[in-house]
Amino acid sequence: MEKRKGETRTLGGKAAIFCAIFALGAATIGSASADGADEKNANTEIRRGPFIVRADFDLTPLEGELRELDALVDEMTRTFRLPKTRENVVVRIFRDEATWRDYWNREFGSLPFRRALYDRKNYLFDRDGANGRVYLCVNPLFANDLRHECAHAILAATLGRSVPIWLDEGIAEYFEQPPESRLTNETWRSATVERLRRGEFSTLESLEKLSSMNEMTVVKYCDSWAWVCWFLNGPDAVRDVLPQYLNDLASRKLFAPKPSKRLKAIAKDGAAERSLRRFYGAL
Ligand SMILES: [Zn+2]
Repeated sequence: MEKRKGETRTLGGKAAIFCAIFALGAATIGSASADGADEKNANTEIRRGPFIVRADFDLTPLEGELRELDALVDEMTRTFRLPKTRENVVVRIFRDEATWRDYWNREFGSLPFRRALYDRKNYLFDRDGANGRVYLCVNPLFANDLRHECAHAILAATLGRSVPIWLDEGIAEYFEQPPESRLTNETWRSATVERLRRGEFSTLESLEKLSSMNEMTVVKYCDSWAWVCWFLNGPDAVRDVLPQYLNDLASRKLFAPKPSKRLKAIAKDGAAERSLRRFYGAL
């Protein structure tokens, strides 16, 4: 499965990073020419855990942000009790948006431009041992973009497979914020309260039915973030749901129950929804 993401949209007057994942024909991306251009232009390389970071400029000014990748791997692994990463991830950083746009136009030009991208496919004969590629450029939201795309990459590299769209994006939106802002997320928290009060908030079952990125609208990003945030920080009884589900996916368990089914087994008669409303103060 291949993924691309990162454009700007607005919700409630706030700029929000919005990502898109969609499948493409295998010949469209990650071709030999794309890899070749990648190598030719990338003459700086830093290795951090599973990440192979490449750029055609001095990465010293980004050392702080890149160092955070270690903490991100540790935190996600601990939170979800994930296995060790099975694959490396190549992170290609462009010096500015113009350079990234040039590259995009050459390699992915038929698609709408994205500020950042995570792409995953099976690269045959890949010398990096990496099925995942993160592409992003230096911009004012670089740290958020890096965490978001690398959160997708960490999930895929540890599970060795993709996860349902809503969960993939909800987790990436959650970890995109610096640790101190994950609960107070300026982009989504107040929007969540509004949507709960207006009765517009998505049920977990409806998010689980999403199968294409075309269906993953801005509000679905919001609701996916809100469910993930509640699962990770809500009542003790629900904190095992996502780790257990992801580990079932990692072990290729047949018929792994979806999170909504697991939730129903521990919170009956709308108790979960009431708890979520209380959590966000939207009673
Ligand atoms: Zn994303």
